[in-house]
Amino acid sequence: MEPFTNDRLQLPRNMIENSMFEEEPDVVDLAKEPCLHPLEPDEVEYEPRGSRLLVRGLGEHEMDEDEEDYESSAKLLGMSFMNRSSGLRNSATGYRQSPDGACSVPSARTMVVCAFVVVVAVSVIMVIYLLPRCTFTKEGCHKKNQSIELIQPLAANGKLFPWTQMRLPTNIVPLRYELNLHPNLTSMTFRASVTISVQALQDTWNIILHSTVRISRVTFMSAVSSQEKQVEILEHPRHEQIAIVAPEALLAGHNYTLKMEYSSNISSSYRGFYGFSYTDESNEKKYFAATQFEPLAARSAFPCFDEPGFKATFIIRIIRDEQYTALSNMPKKSSVPLEDGLVKDEFFESVKMSTYLVAFIVGEMKNLSQDVNGTLVSIYTVPEKVGQAHHALETAVKLLEFYQNYFEIQYPLKKLDLVAIPDSKAGAMENWGLVTFREETLLCDNNTSSVADRKLMTKIIAHELAHQWFGNLVTMRWWNDIWLNEGFATFMEYFSLEKIFKELSTYEDFLDAQFKIMKKDSLSSSRPISSSAQSSQQIGEMFDPLSYIKGASLLLMLKTFLSEDVFQHAIVLYLHNHSYGSIQSDDLWDSFNQVTNQTLDVKKMMETWTLQKGFPLVTVQRKGKELFVQQERFFLNMKPGIQPSNASYLWHIPLSYVTDGGNYSEYRSVSLLDKKSGVINLTEEVGWVKVNINMNGYYIVHYADDDWEALIKQLQRNPHVLSDKDRANLINNIFELAGLGKVPLQRAFDLINYLGNETHTAPITEALFQTGLIYNLLEKLGHMDLASRLVARVFKLLQNQIKQQTWTDEGTPSMRELRSVLLEFACTYKQENCCTAAMKLFDDWMASNGTQSLPTDVMTTVFKVGAKTEKGWSFLLKKYNSIDSEAEKNKILEALASSENVQKLYWLMKTSLDGDIIQTPKLYFIIRTVGRHFPGHLLAWDFVKENWNTLVKKLHARSYTMRSIVAESTHLFSTKAHLSEVQAFFENQPEANLQLRYVQEVLEVIQLNIHWMEKNLKSLTWWL
Ligand SMILES: [Zn+2]
Repeated sequence: MEPFTNDRLQLPRNMIENSMFEEEPDVVDLAKEPCLHPLEPDEVEYEPRGSRLLVRGLGEHEMDEDEEDYESSAKLLGMSFMNRSSGLRNSATGYRQSPDGACSVPSARTMVVCAFVVVVAVSVIMVIYLLPRCTFTKEGCHKKNQSIELIQPLAANGKLFPWTQMRLPTNIVPLRYELNLHPNLTSMTFRASVTISVQALQDTWNIILHSTVRISRVTFMSAVSSQEKQVEILEHPRHEQIAIVAPEALLAGHNYTLKMEYSSNISSSYRGFYGFSYTDESNEKKYFAATQFEPLAARSAFPCFDEPGFKATFIIRIIRDEQYTALSNMPKKSSVPLEDGLVKDEFFESVKMSTYLVAFIVGEMKNLSQDVNGTLVSIYTVPEKVGQAHHALETAVKLLEFYQNYFEIQYPLKKLDLVAIPDSKAGAMENWGLVTFREETLLCDNNTSSVADRKLMTKIIAHELAHQWFGNLVTMRWWNDIWLNEGFATFMEYFSLEKIFKELSTYEDFLDAQFKIMKKDSLSSSRPISSSAQSSQQIGEMFDPLSYIKGASLLLMLKTFLSEDVFQHAIVLYLHNHSYGSIQSDDLWDSFNQVTNQTLDVKKMMETWTLQKGFPLVTVQRKGKELFVQQERFFLNMKPGIQPSNASYLWHIPLSYVTDGGNYSEYRSVSLLDKKSGVINLTEEVGWVKVNINMNGYYIVHYADDDWEALIKQLQRNPHVLSDKDRANLINNIFELAGLGKVPLQRAFDLINYLGNETHTAPITEALFQTGLIYNLLEKLGHMDLASRLVARVFKLLQNQIKQQTWTDEGTPSMRELRSVLLEFACTYKQENCCTAAMKLFDDWMASNGTQSLPTDVMTTVFKVGAKTEKGWSFLLKKYNSIDSEAEKNKILEALASSENVQKLYWLMKTSLDGDIIQTPKLYFIIRTVGRHFPGHLLAWDFVKENWNTLVKKLHARSYTMRSIVAESTHLFSTKAHLSEVQAFFENQPEANLQLRYVQEVLEVIQLNIHWMEKNLKSLTWWL
């Protein structure tokens, strides 16, 4: 999945550790039924929420606002006792359960068992009565490692629910689903039925699966009797599970069939089976429905075993109005006209796959298609936008061919559809054979899509197509290994483009993404990319940039270390060995170890990166021909003397370096630094050394004073001896080290003094990013004079490059992006020539009623300058509502949101929240822009607070979009008052409390900003 698109990471300015944010140990345990659900060695059992009422010693964050108090707990206890007795009967031969769940005539044995249970229950009541009162309060007793007891949860009808855990038991596995759906897009409801063929792996009485739909009838049939029997169903809403109580024991090795009839609403919140309306080019209202199941929403469209490890095949049938097109994962098998203008489409049985990859779409669509060796690749859009699909089709065809060759496995389906959804929250989703995209991530308009837009589309298509192998063909067994899916897809996204679209220079984007992810990963609130994910909240939080960008960075490091050939052999082996299977990280490392013939323990090396959060700071010091190196955790910590528990952190680091004597084309690597320190013998005395060539390693390097000095001098003498990646890497590292207090900030500015001779995009972008962060903090604290001096200094450095820019779309993609960045910088800081040129272009464009074409790469800058006037702003808004290019719409929206008029900004945010004129998923984009500029920066957070409930309802408190909205509206705060205020706000939010990782991150960033300013303001004032 691609939850975020452009500018994926927010920009934390930060620098310290605060012990208050140290991670709490996972609170949990309990209710284990190990015979049914053997634990993976690295798993921690999640505590079932439904049982919490009766759990002792929970941490405060485990209790929700709506959980019952002591009294109701005691009441429930009695009920649980009754149900526990019924639980026993499922496994005891003396019992049979009638359809309504009541006991039949009890035997003597029953009486004994019941008496025993009464005694146990009374004892438990006594124990609970004697427990401290705090046990059942929201706050809990704040003691760690307390013993935990469990009594089984209750189903919605008050009966015992026969399963306590969030993960499903493994005694029953699904084999095949037959899903019949009849959606009504205007009433936003659907009726459906599902037939599931299952196999029992162990004897049992119950079938536990996921569902949140309204089930009206369930029948059960065993392979032997082939007679349908209506059966009872129990619901456990807290875990979104249902239990089918079988009329007979299910025996290991036998197959059974469940048939369920049900109905539900089509969701309006962009997840599950969701629908919406939109207006077409002739202003007619149209309806559309699509799916977004990853990670946990398939269960809201059909009852299923909704875990990635339960793979099965799917036959899908959809009844639709005749004017619509219906699509699903597989090609269409038949279309049968029914009465009343309805048509029933049936799709071929799918390959074996996970539920989160199932997809179906109903709407008015047209397509462009091309055959690639027996696979029909199609781009689907709403009819009027099919003309914007050429670029996507061409790109998808090239990428499909590339991946088939590289992975040495043919794409297994006969078709691959890429669909532009007119209103969607996720950037894109890799459903097997039916990949969905937001319109702006798939469609390309020649007149308005900039080079950055094209790169983004190409990258996202590359990412989603890579998933057809990484994720779809080979799938992680559980969400704790989601980084395998996302890290690989992100790695392949850049790798494939380097191979087949080299001219796009996407390595520049990857470098930028790496710099930003390292900023996040150096916070206390970071996490290991391979983390426990047991609750739906934790699973949602796994879809963060760490899984994507850090995951990809680690794979890049490994590829560079092992060589491209070895890397390719290992992943080909891995994909072949586990096709249609479910894996864990170890399976990947085993493939690597097999290819390296055990000469290197890849698992041991890589686990130092995947199981530890953060990354190393490598300090190097040159003495004659020797290079002394040592490692420690790079940890943003402004408070001297605080050294949190970082001493035990140790990474196996593949160190690489280049010197002024070395040949750049000869990549040099030393053996792993797997100890705290080591010595590298240089073959000769050298003038300078640069460690971490091209930033292929995921670490920051700090040099001794003389060595920094030698590098700074080399950059001034001739920067092009080093690669542009290395120059960008040096700029990044020295500013990050300045933030850490390891080098004076002034020295970082000394290093970028060479920028007048810089010709490449990556180093300039990074310098502007780093200095931009400082500018933003100074400006937001009202140090306008200092902020102006900073801008003047940077402008002076880059004045030649800015002067050379033209207002055109000429040049290579990299040059075009540089132009976009430089002119944006010049106009944002009101450089006169820039603003005059942009204003003239805007006036001409407005005079032509927006029909005259503008250079696409500078369009945003032109619009931003134009939006400063009342007339310009209103014209842009009118234009926004009348055009159908999403690329142009986004540029206009950014311009509208960079206004300095707070009333306009508020109106924009409110209108987007309402979702009529501006779609709600665009709100994140608006808030991000509003929050960065001075007049809007306080307004954005106020808006978020005031509209919190509506935001949560529309976007979900823990969704990626909400996490980004909170981060973007607070990341430039740098006062204690703001810190307290944000903290107090989250203390009172049931949906997003202080225990959430993103809330901790937001608070940590503010705290770091405060300390950064405390530390650097004085020296900035002095020398800037
Ligand atoms: Zn993905």
